[in-house]
Amino acid sequence: MLNFDMEYKSWNREVRNSYWFLFSGQRLLVREKEEQLEIPFDLDLNLLGIEPIDMMHIGAMDEIDCYAASLPNMEFVPEGFILKGLRETYGLMADEWFFAAGRAQHLIHWKENHKFCGRCGNPMGMIEEERAVKCTSCDHIVYPRISPAIIVAVIKEGEILLARSSRFPTGMYSIIAGFVEPGETLEACVNRELKEEVGIEAKNIRYFASQPWPFPDSLMVGFTAEYSSGEIVIDNKEIVDANWFSKDLLPQLPGKASIARKIIDWYLSSTP
Ligand SMILES: [Zn+2]
Repeated sequence: MLNFDMEYKSWNREVRNSYWFLFSGQRLLVREKEEQLEIPFDLDLNLLGIEPIDMMHIGAMDEIDCYAASLPNMEFVPEGFILKGLRETYGLMADEWFFAAGRAQHLIHWKENHKFCGRCGNPMGMIEEERAVKCTSCDHIVYPRISPAIIVAVIKEGEILLARSSRFPTGMYSIIAGFVEPGETLEACVNRELKEEVGIEAKNIRYFASQPWPFPDSLMVGFTAEYSSGEIVIDNKEIVDANWFSKDLLPQLPGKASIARKIIDWYLSSTP
């Protein structure tokens, strides 16, 4: 069992004997080995002609330091490596690696989007004491942002509510999800999203589990609920189709990496 430790260490340190989570846009640099993927270890970046930017210490895997960085203008991939979208790496490396890579992608996205101060427009710099950036002019500090979102499975007489977003791949359906509004509780968010997107109300809303979802910076908070009232009315903006599905007649579902799929699988394994 691997152990990933997130304890903060300053970015400004000698880098040796480390794992490297290197991203070119949304794609992660990995090594293929016997149908599994490996995170590069102790990579000699100069030798490979790679100059990463926005380098950050992100934690330690079994006490070995892990760094995240971006690869700008990646025109070629060094021999023996491939670039792979993070979602496609799921199942090809241990979950601990997948979630560490997600943390790396999340932090890189945050840093790339906070190069300048939102208050006064001057450049931001990393600070030593904690994982944050600070304005070089007005001292405004920005921490990594996490956007909470709810995701909920509603069950009605043994059937599950699944909906199709216009953003989904053709044919795929999932459970209802949406971002939490400022000033809103998670439970209120569940009710609002169900009302807005499919026009129904639910009861017995219960916490299921949560999952970091670094596309780009969410924390998904999963719930289950029972149908209470209302007919399905789709908004035709976020949602283009929705229906109640029985266990034996399911459409195409989200990939195994997602909490959506974990909740749907819970429904599939539940009785009756
Ligand atoms: Zn500033």
